[in-house]
Amino acid sequence: MLGFFAWFTFSLLLASFLEWFIHKYFMHTTLWLPVAVERHAVKHHAERRAPGKFIAAEDELEEYHLFETSAMPMVWMLHFPVFGLVYLGWGPWASFGCALGTALYMVAYEMLHWSIHCPDKFWFRNSAWFRFLSEHHRRHHHRSRINYNVVLPLADLVLGTLSFEPVQPEPERKFQEVS
Ligand SMILES: [Zn+2]
Ligand SMILES: [Zn+2]
Repeated sequence: MLGFFAWFTFSLLLASFLEWFIHKYFMHTTLWLPVAVERHAVKHHAERRAPGKFIAAEDELEEYHLFETSAMPMVWMLHFPVFGLVYLGWGPWASFGCALGTALYMVAYEMLHWSIHCPDKFWFRNSAWFRFLSEHHRRHHHRSRINYNVVLPLADLVLGTLSFEPVQPEPERKFQEVS
């Protein structure tokens, strides 16, 4: 059981570096996967960059689908050999902890990224950590060479891309209550 918690925690920390690496090298570098660059660096960044556009308009929400989701289960499945190695070295609980940690991180990525650009008011919108993550990502939309993490900016901190540079504030906006 100790192996489960140790590997669960370790995989969350490791996922921060994976997120950074995938975002920087696959979503912003044309060398490997042009379709990911087109969807993310070109389309998503351009659409959500101008002041007042960072949060989608209500009528844009249907179009603002989870376009990065489609690749996520695949990225996770690519790690099956890693889960296998952890299983061989540390046993089934450790392997389960690793698989669960990375899966939760990916779900958190999609959920947070969507919430950051979503025009609805939800219970954590005004929480300090969500506002921090939202501003962190807003800076990334203004300058794409900083703040690659969405969920846990550990890799940004360690790899020197963490930035707090001020960007023009978004216009005030009333959020739609969700029931
Ligand atoms: Zn980006
Ligand atoms: Zn974004």
